[in-house]
Amino acid sequence: METLNPLASAQLQIKTACDKLGADPAVYELLKNPQKTIEVSIPVKMDDGTVKVFTGYRAMHNDAVGPYKGGIRFHHGVHFDEVKALSTWMTIKCSVASLPYGGGKAGICVDPATLSEGEKERLSRGYVQATHKLLGEKVDIPAPDVNTNGKIMAWMVDEYIKLAGHSALGVITGKPIEFGGSKGRVAATGLGVAITAREAAKKLGVEIKGSRFTLQGFGNVGSFAAKFLEQYGSKMIALMEYNAILHNADGIDVAKLQAYKDQNGGSVKGYPDAAEISADEFWALETEFLLPCALENSITVDNAPKIKARIIGEGANGPLTPEADEILFKNGVTVVPDILANAGGVMVSYFEWCQNLYGYYWSDAEVAEKEETSMVNAFEAVYAVKEEHKVSFRTAAYMYSIKRIAGVMKLRGWY
Ligand code: GLU
Repeated sequence: METLNPLASAQLQIKTACDKLGADPAVYELLKNPQKTIEVSIPVKMDDGTVKVFTGYRAMHNDAVGPYKGGIRFHHGVHFDEVKALSTWMTIKCSVASLPYGGGKAGICVDPATLSEGEKERLSRGYVQATHKLLGEKVDIPAPDVNTNGKIMAWMVDEYIKLAGHSALGVITGKPIEFGGSKGRVAATGLGVAITAREAAKKLGVEIKGSRFTLQGFGNVGSFAAKFLEQYGSKMIALMEYNAILHNADGIDVAKLQAYKDQNGGSVKGYPDAAEISADEFWALETEFLLPCALENSITVDNAPKIKARIIGEGANGPLTPEADEILFKNGVTVVPDILANAGGVMVSYFEWCQNLYGYYWSDAEVAEKEETSMVNAFEAVYAVKEEHKVSFRTAAYMYSIKRIAGVMKLRGWY
């Protein structure tokens, strides 16, 4: 049976790394489930005068290294085990990136496309009203995730400040620049995906100039990953979106596609400079890079055997099932795992938090340079573990990360 429950996947990944490390059994026991979880019912007055109650979850996975950190997603398919898994991946990710944070994640079951702006604002404020006692600059620090953005973060911070009675800009990251946000935060996750794909290519001797990439998901992560990979000299030959799969062997211009999407109500369907292909054709395309930047379980035992990419850069969290991961490993595809590939987002969230705590703000160039250096350092550290232990990139990243967390938990006397 394929592991389609993301929490089971996360636990399996941790167990594999703990075994390879020969870690004390307590380490797995301490990491397999979140330390704290909460389910809240959020009542929202709808524009038509009715009241709808939305379900929200927050999982606070592990705060050994520092406060809980991680995004809030709005999605109709959100479920509790998914949020627990995502919070687990945040703990591991923050440690891969050497950030002084543990992991957290929230999800609210809602299709945001069905809400008006006012309803979205009341829902965002409602989440903070329901959880504010568990939030704090040094306690639990949310950020954007799937379908949430700076505007939503600004409403949430405003609500938090009103309830707390004092300024606390560092309580949430991913804010608009005018309201305590960091330069470079919006592009940060996609930039990190591109940087790690580029570094992986260097190790494999794949020339990035003139290379091809295929992309699943043209949201905040995918669109910026595409932009930066294009800048490095690679061309996007195919894009899978929820309502259309575009293909052009000569390349799809990222800026033109973005402009088309913006003018077309957020949809790429009908983009004139590409043909539509099927999902089967998309997965089977020959390409140097494949970037899954949508949701969990996009690549399963069904499509993994078809994949002919050299490198997969996981922009999304958990896009491969463990079984698909194994197939790709056997087929010689290098997978740069989510906890490394998409760590640029939380990395610049950390930069934002530092700037908030100091009240002193950095330039675009300063943020980009710090992200570049930190991502390359994280990549090299994981690569060294991979080479030393002859394991997959993913297992190496977990080993590198868990070793650090385990060390801190030991110092703190947790085992
Ligand atoms: N939601 C992003 C992630 O999955 C960013 C989290 C953050 O910035 O705290 O990594």
